Amino acid sequence: MRRIRSKSVEPKTVDSSSASSDEDSVMSVQNQFTSSTDNADDMMNFYLIIHMQSLILLLKQTLCSECNNYWNGSASIKQRDGLYMHIEFMCSNCRFITHLHSSPQIPNTRRREINIRLEIGGILCGLSHGGVMKFLGALNLPPPVQEQRYSEAQQFIWNYVTKAQEESMTAAVEEAIVEGGGMRELTVSGDGAWPTRGYSSVHGIAALCSTTSHPKVLDVTWSSKKCSKCQGAESLRYANPDLFLIFQENHDCQLNYAGSSGGMEKEMIHEMFCRSLPKYNIKYTSYIGDGDAKVHKYLVDNPSYSDVNIKKIEDTNHFAKRMLTRIMKIKKENANKILSDGKRFSGKGRMTDAQAVKFKIYFAKAIRENKTDLNKLYQRSWAIFKHHYSTDEQPMHEWCDLRWCKYLQATANGEKFNHHSQKIFCFKKKKRVKTSQAAAATTTSISSSESDNENFHTVNEENFDDISHDLTIFEQMESDQDEYDDNNDYEPGGDD
Ligand SMILES: [Zn+2]
Ligand SMILES: [Zn+2]
Ligand SMILES: [Zn+2]
Repeated sequence: MRRIRSKSVEPKTVDSSSASSDEDSVMSVQNQFTSSTDNADDMMNFYLIIHMQSLILLLKQTLCSECNNYWNGSASIKQRDGLYMHIEFMCSNCRFITHLHSSPQIPNTRRREINIRLEIGGILCGLSHGGVMKFLGALNLPPPVQEQRYSEAQQFIWNYVTKAQEESMTAAVEEAIVEGGGMRELTVSGDGAWPTRGYSSVHGIAALCSTTSHPKVLDVTWSSKKCSKCQGAESLRYANPDLFLIFQENHDCQLNYAGSSGGMEKEMIHEMFCRSLPKYNIKYTSYIGDGDAKVHKYLVDNPSYSDVNIKKIEDTNHFAKRMLTRIMKIKKENANKILSDGKRFSGKGRMTDAQAVKFKIYFAKAIRENKTDLNKLYQRSWAIFKHHYSTDEQPMHEWCDLRWCKYLQATANGEKFNHHSQKIFCFKKKKRVKTSQAAAATTTSISSSESDNENFHTVNEENFDDISHDLTIFEQMESDQDEYDDNNDYEPGGDD
């Protein structure tokens, strides 16, 4: 096997150390960073971790391009920069030197691609410089670049990421406008999160997404209850008050939030609503939240636009999840209670966790499949309860679907169907959940993230009366909502 001759892309100074090679004869196995984008090249565009001895063994199976004997020689590291290495392989027979550059250079910089990739990986995995060092140590790889340069590279990456992020979000806004028929008014979904669990998180993040057929992020923001730079400069406050003042006025302070961590989400979402006009020249007219009533209330109480009353739309996933939370709550409350049939609430053949999750899925499915037909949505939501609550004496499958209801299928085939009545005592308990959820489902606009704006369904005055007349515990819904809001323990939006 003969190695391919190619010109080195390294500066002359690298080769000057080697007396027996001139630049033209230097072989390099390096792919140039800006090399052609042939398919074949793309296929080879990846890294491989190889043990050094394997590489030497490979070389020993090839012929030296200079003396034509089997290569046998030594390898020496000429330069190392983080994970990047420049290695020289010298043929001991003719002293010809072959160069290997383990990673290409990023154009117009002195940085090596592999080191930038390492830092991106570190950021994505939440590893600091020290963490990356341990990780590489465990793999018997060389350590990363020194901490100072590591931080500088993070800034380098940050600049690129910010630029790409802004371009991507602007494109997503325009895409949503086109899909909405050119109107510069959008329905957006939003959610916030804390990087750490618990109400004491000092940082919060939030994002707004479009509600197009392919939802994309339109805007993001963050809150911080502390500034590491301010904390670092605290010693200056008394030692050198003048310098401290100059620092205070000139640094890019990260402290931008003073309230409770629980209130971060509503303020962050509000901030993004307020800047939609100056930033994108658009208005967000409807908001799909995660069921946290505080956000919508805040948006209404502090209007971002003088002429828009922001509508609230609930997100199917969170909506269904809330039903699961309520079933679980009832299950927990009744864990040791013996019901009127002499059995417990939960257990085999009764209300199990798996059964509760199934109900959540059925409910979300009912919403998604009937989002454009309010009456059907109401019936299908109730069908979940009625179907499972049916007995041989009192079958209630009138709102069921032949596709999944075994009773309707049996009846259609002229067969007799036997109900398992052992579950009904559980479902008496569950009825309360079902009722309030069904009421909520039919009186709130609901969206699923894959639907477009036209599909959002809003209840009008007439059908509201029809639907709510038999929902005797409709009032319960509001208090249930409050309980739910108090229940969540680690995210501002109540997501889990
Ligand atoms: Zn040789
Ligand atoms: Zn600061
Ligand atoms: Zn049925």
